[in-house]
Amino acid sequence: MKSHARVVIIGGGVVGVSTLYHLTKKGWADVVLFERAELTAGSTWHAAGLLPLFNMSYTVGQLHKYSVDLYKRLGAETGQDVSFHVTGNLRLATCPERMDEYHKYCATANTIGVPFRIVTPDEVQALWPLVNLGDGRETAKIIGALFHPDDGHIAPADLTMALRKGACNAGAEIYLQTEVMAAERTASGEWKLRTTQGNIMAEHVVCATGNYARQTGRMFGLNVPAIPVEHQYIVYDESPELVAYRRSGAPELAVLREPDQSYYLREERSGWILGPYENGAPAVFADGVLESFGRSLLPGNLDRLLPHVEAATRRVPPLEKCGIKDVVNGPIPYTPDGSPLVGPAWDVRNVWINEGHSFGITAAGGAGWQLAEWIVEGEPGIDMLAVDPRRFGAYAGKRYVVMKNEETYRNVFTIHFPDEERPAARPAKTSAVYDKLDRMGAVWGQRYGWERANWFAPAGVERRDQWSFRRTNDFEHVGNECRRMRQAVGIIDLAPFTKHEVSGPGAAAWLDGLVANRVPTRIGQMALCHALTPCGGMRSEFTITKLADQRFYVVSAGAAERYDGDYLQRALPMDGSVTLRNVTGARGCFALAGPQARHVLSKLTDAPLHNAAFPWLSGQVLEVGLATEVYALRVNFVGALGWELHFPIEYAHSLFDALLDAGREYDIGMVGMRAMDSMRIEKSYRMWGLDLTPDYTPFEASLDRFVHLDKQAFIGKDALVQQQAHGILHRFVTLEVHDVTDADPLGNEPIFDMQGVMVGRATSGGYGHVLGKSLAIGYIAAELSKVGTPVSIEILGERKRATLVQESPYDPAGRELRA
Ligand SMILES: Cc1cc2nc3c(=O)[nH]c(=O)nc-3n(C[C@H](O)[C@H](O)[C@H](O)COP(=O)(O)OP(=O)(O)OC[C@H]3O[C@@H](n4cnc5c(N)ncnc54)[C@H](O)[C@@H]3O)c2cc1C
Repeated sequence: MKSHARVVIIGGGVVGVSTLYHLTKKGWADVVLFERAELTAGSTWHAAGLLPLFNMSYTVGQLHKYSVDLYKRLGAETGQDVSFHVTGNLRLATCPERMDEYHKYCATANTIGVPFRIVTPDEVQALWPLVNLGDGRETAKIIGALFHPDDGHIAPADLTMALRKGACNAGAEIYLQTEVMAAERTASGEWKLRTTQGNIMAEHVVCATGNYARQTGRMFGLNVPAIPVEHQYIVYDESPELVAYRRSGAPELAVLREPDQSYYLREERSGWILGPYENGAPAVFADGVLESFGRSLLPGNLDRLLPHVEAATRRVPPLEKCGIKDVVNGPIPYTPDGSPLVGPAWDVRNVWINEGHSFGITAAGGAGWQLAEWIVEGEPGIDMLAVDPRRFGAYAGKRYVVMKNEETYRNVFTIHFPDEERPAARPAKTSAVYDKLDRMGAVWGQRYGWERANWFAPAGVERRDQWSFRRTNDFEHVGNECRRMRQAVGIIDLAPFTKHEVSGPGAAAWLDGLVANRVPTRIGQMALCHALTPCGGMRSEFTITKLADQRFYVVSAGAAERYDGDYLQRALPMDGSVTLRNVTGARGCFALAGPQARHVLSKLTDAPLHNAAFPWLSGQVLEVGLATEVYALRVNFVGALGWELHFPIEYAHSLFDALLDAGREYDIGMVGMRAMDSMRIEKSYRMWGLDLTPDYTPFEASLDRFVHLDKQAFIGKDALVQQQAHGILHRFVTLEVHDVTDADPLGNEPIFDMQGVMVGRATSGGYGHVLGKSLAIGYIAAELSKVGTPVSIEILGERKRATLVQESPYDPAGRELRA
């Protein structure tokens, strides 16, 4: 066995072997893989081999598309057939909301170039003659379907072997029957891995251990949020109708999915495989896979599957005559949001994660491709935020993950509404004033484990969302919250913000080297700063305030706590000249905003608040009511006169009550996340993670004013210089969408020019309640980015006319926020 390798991959399932293959494609041949048993011995060998291209995520959609394209050419490249049956894939719809979901998906699919067709019931019948279209009584009527001609199913073991062949031909080595038992970081910064066959030193380690993800993570001190759930499929005997149908010369039937009944069905030899996603499937191996489990399966539980068997039989009557040959029940890796964990681990260097794959056969190609890119090039080629392991934080402990994974599993086929908020594992993290907000009618959502008030139901209004792709029951109330904040004053509880304090003699220079803007030099000065990737993409967004000499307060998105914290921690200089402290939990934040905000705040503080004393984009440490050491920052995400008050958490109640008391005469009220979103879109404010991602540079994001190429070197500067020299191909724009009646853009819609050519992509959208307009923001070909350009945008299957409008259609001169 080798004693040293550049990369060691732990785990010989399809995901590990794909990572190995892609590392060799990037030219790294000194790479080895350890598998404790045989290749495919984990979940891979018993997977049904389906390759669904359908995925609502822009990132995961791209990974799946890459996989399907790769698998089509892999056989010819390696000489190992992968048994890819390109049968197509038909997803049925039996309700209008399901069609809305498909149309929403189609918009995303268009932006990433996945071929699909929306088909009518007659076309369903033509594509799938054995289907019962339904009478609307016993069997729901099919009202349409989504057809992907390009996907189908593959033999997972053959696929793994083809990837193995490709990797080994290029010099990679695989050691079977070799378990990695322990990991230790050496003084040189390398990893020393102890295996059952001896030790090996590695520069990088990739964990691709499927159901073993938590055990593997523990070797590196990581609590990996991936726990398997039981997943079953039924294998049927021969179907006489199917045999007769195929004897007539008909091609293999498309994979059939009936999401409204939560199952898939595909041909298997002369019979079928039926795979339900049922209620009640338990998480397994939360503390680790049992030593005795090996390559086995779990006992089948047909009772749980029966409702789906019955539904499928009604839809495909030939199933009735088929005997059940086998029930396969295997552990399937899951994560709390159903997307895999692909990217760097947190807190440890050169450990990479490729775990938590519930559609691992489908995702393996894309995940291996991007992880190899990341390891070799230092960053991935596409925006990977949606699968970055650091999108979860310390809150994702064992019980949370068990509850969420079981919930995610049973909801695989439910309609993925954009305003959907699922109930499991809640409330987990709450703001100090949670109970008060609850009594005020908060309708809660969850993000990064935090409960956040999405909107507030007035007395007598039901505190419940009616989820939809269209305007829904919150519309009027969200509108009222926006109007209150624009016309009077409101409070938004922003406790989840990620908050760091950076101090020390090296703090200013260190921060300056991380971001494209100038870091504040005067005490009290504040700046919006972007940390970029080496390619110049938008990595993170920080609001940096200089609180005192050698002391800065750094605020970023709530969901970026681990993502940003890990980045900052890794980047710290070794000489101890900078101290970084995460104060997210130690400080709460209320945004007090609206034209009356100054009057309210002035009742609680002695500090002069007029413009000369406390200008926009500045911060001061104040006493507010009984609260001391409040960092008052004159900034907000809605573009109004106002302050974010970042206070020591122990003052949460007294400060909250004091603000409400002081504001009563000005008609103060609570404002939720949805109103904030509407108002920030009216101001064209870009949201990190949606509008600002590594896919776009600050020049493309039209944030040129936050970039100073004349300052010292910063990460991404060289790429920006080059981009400036070569020309900027895309620009961030704001669109007013016309003739919208009930379905606003939500993000991920394609934008077309007047000839119908796709020229851009919306990244966010919504209804601007104060402007009374439907708005989208996003990226468009630079030559079309002039105000007044007519375009169209696809919303739920309809092309809507739209016009490019000036940035910040609400208060474009920014008078209100500077008032
Ligand atoms: C019933 C069922 C049907 C499925 N159908 C589909 C489908 O149709 N389409 C689809 O896309 N996905 C499907 N899946 C999911 C799919 O099986 C998984 O997503 C995929 O196999 C995950 O691959 P992996 O390489 O991540 O993990 P695994 O295949 O589990 O591989 C991990 C490997 O790591 C090894 N290992 C663990 N610890 C160590 C260690 N310390 N040292 C060395 N080796 C170690 C294990 O032995 C194992 O071989 C299905 C899953 C189930 C259960």
